Amino acid sequence: MKQRRRSFLKTAGSLGLAMPVIGPSFFNLREDKPLGIAMVGLGSYAKNQIGVALENTGAWKLTGLVTGTPSKVPEWKKRFPGIKDENIFSYENFDKIAGAKDIDVVYITLPNGLHAEYTIKAAKAGKHVICEKPMANTVEEAEAMLEACRKAGVKLAIGYRCHFEPFNLEVMKYGREKTFGRINFMQTNFGFRIGDPTQWRLKKALAGGGPLMDVGVYCIQAARYTLGMEPVSVSAQWGPVTDPTRFSEVEESISWQLTFPEGVTVNGFSSYRTNVETMFASCDKGNFEMSPAWSYGPLKGRTPLGEMNLPVVHHQTYQMNGMAPYFRSKDPLPDHFSGVEGLRDMKILMAIYEAARTGKVIAL
Ligand code: NDP
Repeated sequence: MKQRRRSFLKTAGSLGLAMPVIGPSFFNLREDKPLGIAMVGLGSYAKNQIGVALENTGAWKLTGLVTGTPSKVPEWKKRFPGIKDENIFSYENFDKIAGAKDIDVVYITLPNGLHAEYTIKAAKAGKHVICEKPMANTVEEAEAMLEACRKAGVKLAIGYRCHFEPFNLEVMKYGREKTFGRINFMQTNFGFRIGDPTQWRLKKALAGGGPLMDVGVYCIQAARYTLGMEPVSVSAQWGPVTDPTRFSEVEESISWQLTFPEGVTVNGFSSYRTNVETMFASCDKGNFEMSPAWSYGPLKGRTPLGEMNLPVVHHQTYQMNGMAPYFRSKDPLPDHFSGVEGLRDMKILMAIYEAARTGKVIAL
């Protein structure tokens, strides 16, 4: 079964289903030597999603691990045979990764508050970086990450998997090509009921904020990539706090309203109290919507023409196959999945917090 799924994914990837936006075909790459990649932080996303992508792809080879938990290493070595002992690092000796010639790129799947520190260290070690979303805790950190990568001449991508996923690529097309006419209004909601009260997602220093940082960033992304425009101002409101102990450091929920050019309004909502995941666009000639819109799927969507009928794919496999040619190329990464895009989102996220704190409309 597993083998069948792998070969389906390889076939789907080679068909270039997400290619209109991601450029060169993965198919051409298969003859090349895989890019060497090291995972930094072996938590849930690394193990259950990026790890699966690395099993599915021929474009990348896992050649290194960075972890604070040595007991995780045997399982990873068994799963990915061939990782050399000298390519296993701790956070303390991370800088030694500079000497690992078979590691081209590091993939940072650490808590948000550690993204800047390890991206900057990786850049200084001469490694390209893929960093998970949100890019950082603050705009200043994001700018420092971009500057460190620019100085070192390395590339910085953000794990924006939706830019490689068929349903999201399709709504980008609807919005930008005005398939159903002009979009006048969008609603974007992403929340889930958070579990373990001791987890890092509830600690300001490690998470940067609450659900807005974690999943609200998908709403911001969707608004921007569907409309193909940048917002000009934002207002925002905190939601009620029903559990003051759990939510002593980060918000429990938050609502915002982004104004885009041409008088388009995008309302957003993000929460750690309730499960919600929808995007809705009201256009001149009808509406289109997705729910679920951004989680691992299967995603579902409807347009005035009926149900969206698109391939259901493993997002992270598409992301890794889609990003690979750009890491091989001498050209800079395209903005839409790079640190440049991450910084734009960070500015909007911080403006939403400022708007909620001050009660003012914040210009962007
Ligand atoms: P986890 O808590 O599952 O994993 C984080 C890992 O980071 C830990 O297992 C640990 O690995 C390492 N770590 C180092 N220092 C700390 C610390 N002080 N506290 C906690 N962990 C630490 O988180 P996730 O995997 O869910 O999230 C990691 C990143 O990935 C986040 O930025 C998140 O936003 C992003 N993410 C992205 C998703 C997407 O769809 N694009 C989905 C889920 C998460 P070790 O023991 O090896 O040191």
